[in-house]
Amino acid sequence: MFGLMMDEPLLISSQIAFAARFHGHVEVVSRTVEGPIHRGTWGTVARRAAQLAHALTRLGVKPGDRVATIAWNTHRHLELYFAVSGMGAVLHTINPRLPPDQLVYVVDHAEDTVLFFDTTFTKLAQLAASRCPSVRQVVAMTDAAHLPEVPGALAYESLLDGQPDTFDWPRLDERTASSLCYTSGTAGSPKGVLYSHRSTVLHSYAIAMADALAISAADVTLPVVPMFHVNAWGVPYAAAMVGSKLVLPGPGLDGKSLLELIDAERVNSLLGVPTVWANLLAHLRAEGRRLTTVKKVTIGGAACPTSMIRAFEEGHGARVLHAWGMTETSPLGTANVMLPKHEGLPYEETLAVKAKQGRPIYGVDMRLVGDDGTVQPHDGKSPGHLQVRGPWVASAYFRQEGADAHADGWFATGDIATLDPDGYMQITDRSKDVIKSGGEWVSSIDLENAAVGHPGVIQAAAIGLPHPKWGERPLLLVVRAPGHEPSREEVAAFLEARLVKWWMPDAIEFIEALPIGATGKILKRTLREMYAEYRFVT
Ligand code: AMP
Repeated sequence: MFGLMMDEPLLISSQIAFAARFHGHVEVVSRTVEGPIHRGTWGTVARRAAQLAHALTRLGVKPGDRVATIAWNTHRHLELYFAVSGMGAVLHTINPRLPPDQLVYVVDHAEDTVLFFDTTFTKLAQLAASRCPSVRQVVAMTDAAHLPEVPGALAYESLLDGQPDTFDWPRLDERTASSLCYTSGTAGSPKGVLYSHRSTVLHSYAIAMADALAISAADVTLPVVPMFHVNAWGVPYAAAMVGSKLVLPGPGLDGKSLLELIDAERVNSLLGVPTVWANLLAHLRAEGRRLTTVKKVTIGGAACPTSMIRAFEEGHGARVLHAWGMTETSPLGTANVMLPKHEGLPYEETLAVKAKQGRPIYGVDMRLVGDDGTVQPHDGKSPGHLQVRGPWVASAYFRQEGADAHADGWFATGDIATLDPDGYMQITDRSKDVIKSGGEWVSSIDLENAAVGHPGVIQAAAIGLPHPKWGERPLLLVVRAPGHEPSREEVAAFLEARLVKWWMPDAIEFIEALPIGATGKILKRTLREMYAEYRFVT
């Protein structure tokens, strides 16, 4: 017997329609590439998305066509989110930090038809358009006055001019593809993760939950996480759904620009990766300033060091929410919120809990398996390969269907983790980066986090190198903070007080900068190549 409830499809167009109807006056503020701040509302986003959908129809964009963007977080990018997916086409958000060859590869692979770009990325757009035959129109996300000299390029604002500001959004099957994001792929070609309307709307509900990212109408939300990286963690969709004021940073991701925007717009909720926050904290320290409006900082994409949690919580009175996810999981898988049992614990003890990646949110099931495929206990000690499943987890990669069939319906994340009896998951490593010493895994993340707790250390990376007795032992590479000259002995003494003995690096080397990939992650493979000839003094 079926239930007798309305069979309304879960569609992205319903989010923007709802936002226009019930939160139409809530502000959407954006820094622009041209310079000035653009002030709009959810009402104007909806109207301009409708105009854009008409313009795209006139350009011949059909359901299922891929429409690409190479763009910052701005109001125009937001309009593209709703217009392209809403009309049944697929929004392919491209990471401008991809090496040019990979950028051309993804445009070709996706067969993008129309390419929208911010003028910062004019050269990249020209390169893609000249090398990819599928691209038949390029659009600069600006007005006619700022249109760069690109053959055949249209100006975004001219495209919208005179178009009707309502659109009859089609009633799509909710499983229709809505957006496409390629994983950065440190090895091999990037792989396309193809989201659907259903997965996106369910994920929006999930991230808005109080025990997830808790996105609400009371928030002034600033997603620094790029809209070209896993749909800015789904924040634009959830913000439309709940009616949060949205503040978009455009190209201004440095500490000074962020602080100006945070103060001017009274932002209370920030979301982004640790490297962005390291820069903001350094700027605040250098200027002797405090965050006065921020209540919550959501940190994910890479492990958040305890020193960063402490800096925001003790130094600025903002709560840190540590979260884990990946492109293939839309991305949210876990969020770190405290349980009633943690109330009244000394702060140092809560820090140990907060440094974990958090508890699974309903909708994402997880398990750990050993090298031999056996399921590992949730004892907080036994590490295993983290596998996940759920309605917003990828079942296959775009145009590689079948090639990536997952074992028993579980997706192998490539992360190594533990799960404790309360459900807190902790990532210890990427499986390809693990350091195996005497048959046991050394957590490079714990080692790195301990190292960046030293005030003279700004970044650290641990890699495993061959060792005659133990198989592998850790080498710790350290980037010194500006104005600090800690010695090897000082760093080692600092670590000794914080790590179990056998996790201590066998050597510490100083390095000017660490190699960083397109999504801001340290490229361990490159480091291993750089130090392939390195030998420990035994
Ligand atoms: P991406 O698909 O580029 O977003 O990368 C996903 C990967 O980033 C995950 O598989 C993890 O290895 C890593 N990651 C994401 N969030 C965290 C976190 N909070 N702590 C540690 N690693 C993380």
